[in-house]
Order: sequence, then structure tokens, then C-alpha cells
Amino acid sequence: MVNNYLKKIKEFYHQYLSFRSLRVRIFLIVLAVGIIPSVAMRYGIVRNYEQRAVELRTVAVQSQLKIIADHLINEDYFNTNRSEVINAELEMLSNLYDGRVQIISGNLRIIKDTYGISEGKTIISEEVIKCFMGESLSNYDAQNGYIEMTIPIIDNQNVSAEGTGGTTATGPDPRVKGVMLTSISTDYITETMSILSRKAMILEALMIMAIVAIALILSIVLTRPFERVTKAIGEVKAGYSNESISVPDLAETEHIVEAFNQLLQRMKVLDDSRQEFVSNVSHELKTPLTSMKVLADSLLVQEDVSVELYQEFMEDIVSEIDRENRIITDLLTLVKMDKKASAMNIVSLNINDMTELILKRLRPLARKKDVEVVFESVRSVTAEVDEVKMTLVMSNLVENAIKYNKEHGWVKVVLDADHQYFTFEVSDSGIGIPEDSLAQIYERFYRVDKSHSREIGGTGLGLAITKNAVLMHRGSITVTSTEGEGSTFLVKIPLNYIAG
Ligand code: ADP
Repeated sequence: MVNNYLKKIKEFYHQYLSFRSLRVRIFLIVLAVGIIPSVAMRYGIVRNYEQRAVELRTVAVQSQLKIIADHLINEDYFNTNRSEVINAELEMLSNLYDGRVQIISGNLRIIKDTYGISEGKTIISEEVIKCFMGESLSNYDAQNGYIEMTIPIIDNQNVSAEGTGGTTATGPDPRVKGVMLTSISTDYITETMSILSRKAMILEALMIMAIVAIALILSIVLTRPFERVTKAIGEVKAGYSNESISVPDLAETEHIVEAFNQLLQRMKVLDDSRQEFVSNVSHELKTPLTSMKVLADSLLVQEDVSVELYQEFMEDIVSEIDRENRIITDLLTLVKMDKKASAMNIVSLNINDMTELILKRLRPLARKKDVEVVFESVRSVTAEVDEVKMTLVMSNLVENAIKYNKEHGWVKVVLDADHQYFTFEVSDSGIGIPEDSLAQIYERFYRVDKSHSREIGGTGLGLAITKNAVLMHRGSITVTSTEGEGSTFLVKIPLNYIAG
């Protein structure tokens, strides 16, 4: 019970939460692609506004200050008594921009302060001194909420000969009669910025909600075809359907489905061939049994059967038993090879000696049919092979060459090698194989002439075993044949076994 829940939680995690899930990835990517620019945009807009607003304000105030500076010179503010008109102008400016204006004379004394608190005092600051050198400066202090600017008051007509109050290495500009030091509040900008920022944040929240919804919908919609594929495959797996599936929603799912259908097709072919094999096996195993039953029955129904007849029938029954035995042995050999895991027992062997031994074993059979067996060894060959399987290959080919030969015929075995492969060629002067049968001779239980093969003790499994054994050595087998003249089988095997 608990285990079940754990399993479900795990499944849910893998499907909906794990980063390995395509759905989660799509969701996160859409989310990132949507949210990052919107946050950056909000930040950019607010910052840009601030910069622009400060710039505009600075320019506006500076131009006003320049006008007043000209008035100061025209009214000879530094030498005569303070002009009321100018004072009023200064007041108006400081009221308008919520700021403070201080006018500093050549000896660094504050001669006017719109706040009225610093008049008469001396001021020494870097900005003021720089300004006496003719430079207009402005500085925005965002933290404390003000812009500070300094404007030189320049008199182009009466350039005084002696220096002014500023003492620097380069020296003050003689045209500069004084400096206007102004600071204006940026509360208005800050306030606008916070309103703007609040509005942008609301907009951003709405956008994020929309992006989350879009990401969620996209992640579900885009991965749905894959769920459909899994479901369709699940149905085949469960056995509800055996037909090809189709999920044409996406090119990718179409590819997966195509590959799956091909696999299904291959499985069907394998299943068909397995069924055919089973029915062939049953049939082949039944044939000797049927013959035995017929022989035994006919002995039973007859009365006074002579001993000679008994003996004759018994001999037939024994040969049928031998046949059955051969089929079962061959089948077992084949099944063992089919198990791909069946380990190859690779050893380094002298193939010439191996061939001699096989030919020695088969010579009695050849003698019976008066077939001459010749062995031509072009060179001495040592190769890495599985001894049992390679013996099967060679003896099956030579045995067939003898079995399907004519009286007084010949069989020639040629062994050769290059630096990579060795070749084992078996030619005979036998009955040959019809062209349309050449492709089928390696099939299990296939025989060109069933009754003839059976007569001479064939099971139809020899070449199937041979081909399997050759392939397990990563070799190849080819055949050329002319009906009535003979056949040549050529086996090519790597000298060094290629594992894997
Ligand atoms: P079998 O046990 O019947 O010999 P094989 O698998 O060894 O089965 O061979 C399959 C069929 O191929 C044989 O029945 C025979 O018709 C044909 N065949 C094999 N080798 C030769 C050959 N050297 N000459 C002519 N026919 C052959």
C-alpha cells in the first residue's frame, strides 16, 4: 500500500517535476524567455526615465542660471549693492525648482544664499574652484535626492588683471567674476519614478501570470503527442492491438512511431518464422514416428509373420529411430547456437590439421559412394576459432558434397589464406542446386528434393547450422552451382576472432 503510494509519487515526480521531463523543460524555458525580458524592460524603462528627467531638469535650470548670471554682470551685482530685481529672480528660481542658490564672489565668499544661512561665509570646494576655472559642473545625488550644479558667472567685457580667489596650479579664468552654486531637489523625479515603477510592476505581474499560463499550456500541448505515442505503444504491449500505430501530430512522434512500426513488423516476421519453425519441427519429428507406427501396426495385424519379415521391419524401425535421433541432435545444436549469449570457445588452431581430421572421418562415407576426396592446402593456416563450431561447418559442407554427389564423383577441398582471412572451399562434381533454390538452402528444413535428402539421411538443418556457425565467427559463406555439374561452397573466416 505504502509502496504503491511511493511509486505513484515517484512517477508524478518524473512526469511533472523532474528536470529530465520535457514538459518541465518547456515550461521553464518559456517562463525564462518570457519573464527575463519583462523584468529587464521594467528596470530599463524606470532607469531611462530617471536619467532623462535628471538631464532635462539640469539643462533647464542651467539655462535659467545662465540668464541670471548675465543679469548679475549687467547689474554689476558684485560691486554695487544687491539688486532687488535679481534677488527676486533668484527667489523665484529656487521656489520653482525647490532648490537653493548661492552666489560666490571671486574671493570665495558667499554673497547671496536664497536660504539666507550661509551669507558671508567662505566656501572651499572642488566644484567651486573648478568652476572658477570656467567649467560648468553638475552632479546628481540619487541617494539624497538632489542635483548640484555650478555655473561660472562670466564677464567678457571687464577682464580683471589680477587673479581671483581660486588657487590652483592652472590658475583661475580671469573672466569668471563669481560662481553660482545651486542644488535642486529631485523629489518630483523620485515620486514619478515610484509611480511609474508601481505601474510597471502591476503590468509585469499581469505579464508573468500570462507567461506562466502560456508556459503551462505550451508544455502540456507540446508533450501531449508523446503521451499519445506511449499510450499507443502501451496498447500494443498489453496485447489489445497488433496493428501499426499512427501519431502524426509532430515530425518527431512520426519518426518514433515509424521506428516502432518497423520493430513491430520485424517482430511479426520473427513470430511468423518461429511459428513456421515449430510446425516444421513437429512435422519432421512426426514423420519417422508415423513410419514406425505403420511398420509396427502392419506386423501386429499380420498373423504368422516370419522371423525374416520381423527382422526386416525391425531394421526399418531402427533406421527411423536413428533419423529421429539425428533430427533432435541437429535441432539441439541449432537452438544452442541461437542463444546469442552462447559463449564462443575461441582457441588458436591449425586449420590444416583440423581439415585432415575431418576428411579422415568422412572418407569411409565417400568410399561407399566411390567419391574421391582431394585436399589442397595452399599454405599452413592458424586461426582463432571455436573448434566445435568450425568442425561442424567443415564436416557439414564436405558431407553434403559427398552425399549429393554422383557415383565415381570427386570432392575437392582447398584451404588458403591472406593476411586477414582464411578461405575454405568445397567443390564437388555432384547434382548441383537449381538457381531458384540457391537463396533458400540455408533455411531450416529446406531441402531441394525432400525425398532424396531423406533417403540419404538429411535433416535439412545442416546448412542452417553451418551458416549460423560462420556468422558467429563474423565470416561469410557463398555458393555457386550448376545443376547437374556440381557446386562450390566458399567460406571466409577472419584469422583473428572479432569479439562483440
Ligand atoms: P540436408 O540435411 O538435407 O543435407 P542441408 O541444410 O545440409 O540439409 O542442405 C539443404 C539442402 O541443400 C539439401 O537438402 C540439398 O538439397 C541442398 N544441398 C546442400 N549441399 C549441396 C551440394 N553440395 N550439392 C547439391 N545440393 C546440395
